[in-house]
Amino acid sequence: MRVAALIVAAGRGSRVGGGVPKQYVRIGGETILQRAIDAFALHPAVALVQSVIHADDGSLYEDSLSRRPAALRAPVTGGSSRQASVRAGLEALAAEEPDLVLIHDAARPFVDRGLIDRVVAALERHPGAIPALAVADTLKRADAGQTIAETVDRAGLWRAQTPQGFRFARILDAHRAAAVEGFDDFTDDAAIGEWAGFPVALVEGDARNIKITTAADVADAQAACEAAMTMEPRIGTGFDVHRFAEGSSVWLCGVEIPHTHKLEGHSDADVALHALTDALLGTIGDGDIGQHFPPSDPKWKGAASHLFLTEAARRVRARGGRIVNVDVTLLAEAPRIGPYRAAMQARVAEILGITADRVGVKATTMEELGSIGRREGIVAMANASVLLPFSTAQDQS
Ligand code: MG
Repeated sequence: MRVAALIVAAGRGSRVGGGVPKQYVRIGGETILQRAIDAFALHPAVALVQSVIHADDGSLYEDSLSRRPAALRAPVTGGSSRQASVRAGLEALAAEEPDLVLIHDAARPFVDRGLIDRVVAALERHPGAIPALAVADTLKRADAGQTIAETVDRAGLWRAQTPQGFRFARILDAHRAAAVEGFDDFTDDAAIGEWAGFPVALVEGDARNIKITTAADVADAQAACEAAMTMEPRIGTGFDVHRFAEGSSVWLCGVEIPHTHKLEGHSDADVALHALTDALLGTIGDGDIGQHFPPSDPKWKGAASHLFLTEAARRVRARGGRIVNVDVTLLAEAPRIGPYRAAMQARVAEILGITADRVGVKATTMEELGSIGRREGIVAMANASVLLPFSTAQDQS
């Protein structure tokens, strides 16, 4: 059995806020779309995953994926209705001749393996099968004044979910026929199957398989992700040295300290922030300060080094990471650090958006040994600790 999945991601729905269609919103560090794709692409029974996106969303789509599982094909462009978009995806899959297709809303990121298994299993006996939940609430029909007109019997009523599974040739034929007949407003694929006259079975749905629609749904999904997410600890280290030159103050941890010399460097030469920047980049394996801010680029001449640390923190957070603590040790005969320690802690905490108790600032002399002992410069060593979302999916693609 060759099983394809079709992820319908062409919608414009942006009620979740931010002006971005909801499938491109991130929850738990991953876009909703990536989560939907992974659910199928990493399922052992699924050979192909085809996404359908809006014509305007090419770059949003590219930016939304942090990994591309082997089963994932290049996206195709959808049409003016959901129905037209599904048909575009089916036509794109036709050359692959799958036996079965699972048509799934990109806004349902929590579909799990068991649900996919139930739909696929039902397709052995039925040309179509969808997951659904029995309606549990009492249903009311209201009049125009929002007064109850009647209570509706809920017996036999179900809420349809996706993925909706079909024998591929049957649903492709039905879609083609519906298009020829001029229909373009079927809201799900089971309805097209009903219209075409083939039976569509119901299998047990999953209350967690929600369709994300509103900002409140995103907040709930975020909370659910955080509760379920495994976070792995990451450690990074950084080291930097700058020599003294003629001047009257040094910058250390974003604080200007009067001194007999300044530190020489392309930027403000804040050796401590440079070491901290490298430590943070180290936690996510994202190069070093010289790679992101090349000294050869005149843009960084005289730059305030908090810009470098801010960017390193942004890169960590873009991965869903949380900075746990940072710690810096300065090696210097002078100036004395003690009187400035609290200000330095506060400044680093402010730059990183963490509390000051998560920032260590320490200093030691070199007992007049070596170059630092001869007051030729200052060394900074730093560590950073980060919690990063861990997904087994990341190891499989
Ligand atoms: Mg440096």
